[in-house]
Amino acid sequence: MLGGATIHAMKWQRTLILFTISVAVAIGLQLFWQTPAGWIILALATGGLLIDRRRQASRVAQWAEGPDADPPAGIGAWEEVVAALYRHNNNLKLTRDELQQTNAAIMSAAQALPMGAVTLNREFQIRWFNRAAEKQLRLKSERDIGQNLLNLLRAPEFAEYAAKSDWPSHVVVRLSWGSGQDQTVMMQLVPYALDQILLLTRDLTQIERLETIRRDFVANVSHEMRTPLTVLSGFLETLIEAPSDALSEDRRSHYLHLMQDQTRRMTALVADLLTLSDLESTLVAERATLDMETLLGQARQQVEALSAGRHLFKWELDPGLCLLGHEPEIQSAVLNLLTNAVRYTPDGGQITVRWEPTPDQGATYSVTDTGIGIASEHLSRLTERFYRVDRGRSRELGGTGLGLAIAKHVAMRHDAHLDIQSKLGEGSTFSLTFDPSRVIRKDEGSATATQAP
Ligand code: ADP
Repeated sequence: MLGGATIHAMKWQRTLILFTISVAVAIGLQLFWQTPAGWIILALATGGLLIDRRRQASRVAQWAEGPDADPPAGIGAWEEVVAALYRHNNNLKLTRDELQQTNAAIMSAAQALPMGAVTLNREFQIRWFNRAAEKQLRLKSERDIGQNLLNLLRAPEFAEYAAKSDWPSHVVVRLSWGSGQDQTVMMQLVPYALDQILLLTRDLTQIERLETIRRDFVANVSHEMRTPLTVLSGFLETLIEAPSDALSEDRRSHYLHLMQDQTRRMTALVADLLTLSDLESTLVAERATLDMETLLGQARQQVEALSAGRHLFKWELDPGLCLLGHEPEIQSAVLNLLTNAVRYTPDGGQITVRWEPTPDQGATYSVTDTGIGIASEHLSRLTERFYRVDRGRSRELGGTGLGLAIAKHVAMRHDAHLDIQSKLGEGSTFSLTFDPSRVIRKDEGSATATQAP
């Protein structure tokens, strides 16, 4: 097989041979017939050829301006050169497209990282950053690219860290954005390539907040337990140490009853804590069909026994309305709102319980009382664990301070929301409104119902 170079050489030689023969013919004509016709024909042919070559060259030059287009036709000897360039250009284009795709994939992965990433030069000027960094460090690309990060952050801990010669570990920086919006961010600098620096950031604000909540919770539980335990051990000490004839039977029995009250309080607290921890173990509650008529009937018995005739109850229940949920949780939420109404409504007050459909096919369970009511400044905090408007009163009435926290959790797990409306001295309405997806009519649910026992 002949190589490309040999073929080119052969073509070139053929042209040379043709030219030599034409010159020989022209010389022959001149010598033997004394006519210059050969030279004239040769000059005309050479001129035509030159003009054609010039035209071909300008077509090639025009094509070379944008070599992505198909090569032009009729360019003679240029065809091979242009075809080779065209192939080469196509290969380059493919490689460029692949590189662009890889680059775009890497950039979108970097953008999607949950960690903030900022690329910097040696002078700490920002070259690029991803979405997480934009959020965490409040950067704006049109404003901050090219800016010096140390000037933008103004965090002395970070400036001190950045000034070191290398950064084997991270630094935790507290960033203050004014109006109390502080943020805790973990930052790590990593040198890469030639004189480039990568800053990785992680927002610790939420983790820190959760840690504070956990610490407060442990402190609250210990505090709640300490009081009944102190009372219990005090009475036990008295009973053990007092000579047998020093305490009358009545006094002894009084002490024992007080001890029983404290034990009940601790039992209620532990039960509520266990309920809360169960609620936190999964995000969404199961969807068994609950016959609310039965469930509310049981709650009614318990709460009327607790009230012992001190309150007037009104029950307005839609008997056909069922809920898709987890029975013990709904029972607990329903009872918490009811027992609160009994606790915080003075004798003779009225308590109205409703279970009714909402216009959008959902349903609302509400408890309205004519009790002591709650001042508006407390309303937003009522569902916090251990938050009580009047700590002494709640304890006295046997409250754990966890009832509304449980009700709110149960609501969240059942696609419902807990609303509280209250006026100090007039009474309150606590309501749980369930999403239509959690509500069915009794006849609709009978085919699949796993009826509450
Ligand atoms: P507690 O066990 O103390 O009742 P909850 O979490 O159930 O705890 O309620 C938190 C606080 O909300 C109560 O201590 C009380 O101050 C207030 N509260 C709850 N329900 C009512 C109500 N129906 N009327 C007035 N205040 C209420």
